[in-house]
Amino acid sequence: MDYELRIVVEKVAVSSQEVVKRDTITSYALQCPTSIGELGLRHAEQIDLLAQVQNIVLAEQSILLDLGTHVCPACGDTLKKNGYKASNFHAVFSDHTVRIQKHCCSHPACGWQRTPTVTSLFGANIHPDLATLHCAQGALYSYREAKKNLEAWNGHPRRVNNHTHVKRMTDKVGAVLADQNALPPSAEECAAPASDVIIACE
Ligand SMILES: [Zn+2]
Repeated sequence: MDYELRIVVEKVAVSSQEVVKRDTITSYALQCPTSIGELGLRHAEQIDLLAQVQNIVLAEQSILLDLGTHVCPACGDTLKKNGYKASNFHAVFSDHTVRIQKHCCSHPACGWQRTPTVTSLFGANIHPDLATLHCAQGALYSYREAKKNLEAWNGHPRRVNNHTHVKRMTDKVGAVLADQNALPPSAEECAAPASDVIIACE
């Protein structure tokens, strides 16, 4: 008999343990491996599996996003749903499109609308774990070498890993660190004030 392994994600109600949604992500044929390369999942398959799991996590999280006010800030009328805005999100190993609910004012003459994006909600669309990798690579290697390293680990080229992006991230974080270094230390970090100053003259 032939078998396959199916990777399924279930959304479960915590209290009742009822499965409310089930997504089949992928399946793998079960065959006897004939070489070590066939043992387990290959590099690209692992990255792809992560990407597909992330897609499901992100789709569920996007429903929960707190978009702020529920009334129109311009006229106080109620807001109504107005389709979705797709925005980019770059995780450590994969790129995603997050669909976020848009709203507009229900008053016909008002015209106020809200189009949130990952960047407008979180200040960036690159996960800090990827930004950390960019900075570490940008600090240790040339930006073009950093790009090559990131590509090699990720198994495929991604625009977010290109050398200009690595440079921009490294420069940005470097500027913040330089500012921090220029700040005087806080009182807690300094030694207690001395009661006497002894000056030796020879
Ligand atoms: Zn309004």
